[in-house]
Amino acid sequence: MKTVFLDRDGVINRNPPNMGYVRRWTEFSFIPNSRRAIRELTQNGYRIFVITNQAGIGRGLYSEESLKDIHCRMVTEITEAGGAIEALYYCPHHPDAGCECRKPKPGMLKRAAQEHNVNLSNAYFIGDTTTDIQAGKSTGTATFLVLTGLGQGSYHEYINAEFHQHANRELCRPDKIFTNLYAATCWLLSA
Ligand SMILES: [Mg+2]
Ligand SMILES: [Zn+2]
Repeated sequence: MKTVFLDRDGVINRNPPNMGYVRRWTEFSFIPNSRRAIRELTQNGYRIFVITNQAGIGRGLYSEESLKDIHCRMVTEITEAGGAIEALYYCPHHPDAGCECRKPKPGMLKRAAQEHNVNLSNAYFIGDTTTDIQAGKSTGTATFLVLTGLGQGSYHEYINAEFHQHANRELCRPDKIFTNLYAATCWLLSA
């Protein structure tokens, strides 16, 4: 079965300004057409998972309860728009904690694959940062970079890595680049 893993911030919803975190529902704002994209993926038989780093919890900026409240409301709105999220995984740890789940590590993807019987070589990871691309690549999914959220900076990172022949350039290189989740969805559904 076809599977899409979505990063959350910068793909489904806007990143708050100044590299900020979404600390409460009033700070959450859907990127135009992201709900429509999820609906169309759902209607076309894709299973959809959300895979998100939420180090704001580890930094003490908001609680796990607040995150769960945000996710509950987000999923409600997506469901009302006709989409379905099969499961949602988040890493609550501080970046310095050295956990196995924080992207670019593949922990959350591997766990989702195991718990939901996903064939990772037949799956897509859609994200706006190089860490998303790396997490996808290290588990064998196809990787799409979107230019919403932090995507434009990630695009420059990728171009620079290619230009300067950085050792990590292979890991920065997405399979495809789209303006946003809806454009990526249209391509997937026409492929
Ligand atoms: Mg992101
Ligand atoms: Zn973690």
